[in-house]
Amino acid sequence: MNDIEIAQAVSNVLSRYTKIAPEAAPQAAPVQAVQNSDSLDAIVARALAQQSVPAPQAATCDAGNGAFDSMDEAISAAVLAQVQYRHCSMQDRATFIQGIRDVFLQESTLQEISRLAVEETGMGNYADKLTKNRVAAQKTPGLEDLTTGALSGDNGLTLTEFSAYGVIGSITPTTNPTETIINNSIGMLAAGNTVVFSPHPRSRNVSLMTVALINQKLASLGAPANLVVTVTQPSLDNTSALIKDPRINMLVATGGPSIVKTVMSSGKKAIGAGAGNPPAVVDETADIEKAARDIIRGCSFDNNLPCVAEKEVIVVNQVADYLIHCMKKSGGYLLCDPKLIRQLQALVMNEKGTGPDTAFVGKDARYILQQLGVNAPEDTKVILVETERTHPFVIHELMMPVLPVVRVENVDEAIELAVKVEHGNRHTAIMHSTNVDKLTKMARQIQTTIFVKNGPSYAGLGVGGEGHATFTIAGPTGEGLTSAKSFARIRRCVMVEALNVR
Ligand code: NAD
Repeated sequence: MNDIEIAQAVSNVLSRYTKIAPEAAPQAAPVQAVQNSDSLDAIVARALAQQSVPAPQAATCDAGNGAFDSMDEAISAAVLAQVQYRHCSMQDRATFIQGIRDVFLQESTLQEISRLAVEETGMGNYADKLTKNRVAAQKTPGLEDLTTGALSGDNGLTLTEFSAYGVIGSITPTTNPTETIINNSIGMLAAGNTVVFSPHPRSRNVSLMTVALINQKLASLGAPANLVVTVTQPSLDNTSALIKDPRINMLVATGGPSIVKTVMSSGKKAIGAGAGNPPAVVDETADIEKAARDIIRGCSFDNNLPCVAEKEVIVVNQVADYLIHCMKKSGGYLLCDPKLIRQLQALVMNEKGTGPDTAFVGKDARYILQQLGVNAPEDTKVILVETERTHPFVIHELMMPVLPVVRVENVDEAIELAVKVEHGNRHTAIMHSTNVDKLTKMARQIQTTIFVKNGPSYAGLGVGGEGHATFTIAGPTGEGLTSAKSFARIRRCVMVEALNVR
C-alpha cells in the first residue's frame, strides 16, 4: 500500500463510522509510513493509536461514536453520562479536555475535518478552516476559567463555585460546524456538563465525524460514555425536539436570528449567539495602508463566513480614494460597472432581496465574479462595490466576500451610520483610527460585544489578538465571548463560624 492508499483506507473506516460516503471523504495526509505487508486493520489501529484512540469495535452509528438514531436516545444517553460524570474528579475533567485538544491538534485530523467541512458545506476555504479549528482546540479555555471565589470573616467561610448546569443542548451552525463543536465541547465539559449537539443538516457528516473523534478519544481515556452526543440525522425536527425536551437544562444556539429567538422563548436557560453585520469605520487619522490590508484579510477570512467578519466599510471621504486604492493592492477587486453591480445583486441575494442566496454564502470572490463573466486575477480576495448607505449589501448580512464601501463626510457621520447598520445586534464592530476620542466614542455608541481597533476582525476571536477563542459569541443574551463559566451555575457554599483562619 502506498501513502495515498493508506490515507484513503483510514478515511474509509472513519467514513463507515459516521456513514459518510467514502467518495465524499477527503484525502487525508498520511499519518505514518507503513510496510506493504500491513493489513488494513493494523493500519487503522495504528492511525488511531497515534491519536491515542482505540480501534473502533463495530461499524454502527450508535454509542461509541456518540451518534444516536433519535434525539430521545441521544438525550437519554447524555442524561446517564451526566450522572456518571459527576463522579469524575477535576483531574479527570482536565485529562478529558486535554484529550480533546490533542485529537484536533493532530495535523492529519485537523486537515481532514477542515477539508471535509469545506467539501460538505461548499462554504469557506480550507486554509482558514485549519486556522479556525486549530484555534478552537488551542485557545478555548478549560478548567482554569472556573475560578472559585472565597470570602472569610467572623461568620466563617463562604465559597462561590462554578458548577455544572447538567445536560446542555447545543445547536450549531453550518458556517463554523467543527469549530463550534470543538469549542463548545471543551467549554461545556470543563464546567461539568454533558452535551447533546444538534448540528446544521448541511454539515451533518463532518459534525458526526467531529463528535465521533471526541467520543473515541474520551473512551480511550476512560471517560464515561456519551459525554458528547448527537443524532445520526440532524434536522430541524430534531432541533425542535431538543429544545422541548424537559431533560435539557440549558440551550445554546449559535446561528441566525430565528434559532436564537426560538431558544430564548423556550422557557429554559438559554444562550443565544446570533447574527452580526460588522461595520468597519476608517477615518482620516488611520494608517490607511494597514487599514486596507486588515480589512481585506478580515473580510476574506474563511470567505467571510465568521459572524465577526467585516461586512461593510464606512470611510471618511478625504481618505476614501486612497483606501480603495490600497484595498485593490491587497486583493480587492473593484466592481465599477453599474450594470455588473446590479447583476451581482441579483445573483447573490435571495429573491426577496432580504438576505443572501445561500448558494453564494462562503464562496470565494473569484468564483462569484466568474458567474458574472468577470475573470479576476488569481490573488483576488474580496469584491469591492461603492454603494449608497441604504444599499442591500450594506443593510443585510451576506457572509460572502462582497464588501460595500460607503463614503461619508466625517468620522462622526461614520460612527452614526455604523451604529445604524449594525442594527443593534451588539455583535462586532471594527474601527481604524488613531484618534482616541473617536475610538472611545464609537465603542460607547455602538455597544458591540467585540470592538476591534486597528486590526482585522478575527483579532477579536483571539487570532492575532489577545484573549481566548470562542465560536459562540453571545450578544443577545449577554455572556459575550462564551467560555466554560458561561455554561456553569454559580453556587454558594457556606461554612458557619469555622475555617476562617485569620
Ligand atoms: P442558521 O440559523 O440557518 O442555523 C443555525 C442552527 O439553527 C442550525 O443547526 C439549524 O439547523 C438550526 N435552525 C435554524 N432554524 C431553525 C428552525 N426554524 N428550527 C430548528 N432549527 C433551526 O444559521 P447558519 O446559516 O448555520 O449560520 C449562520 C448564521 O449564524 C449567521 O447569521 C451568523 O452570523 C450566525 N452565527 C453567529 C455566531 C455567533 O457566535 N454569534 C457564530 C456563528 C454563526
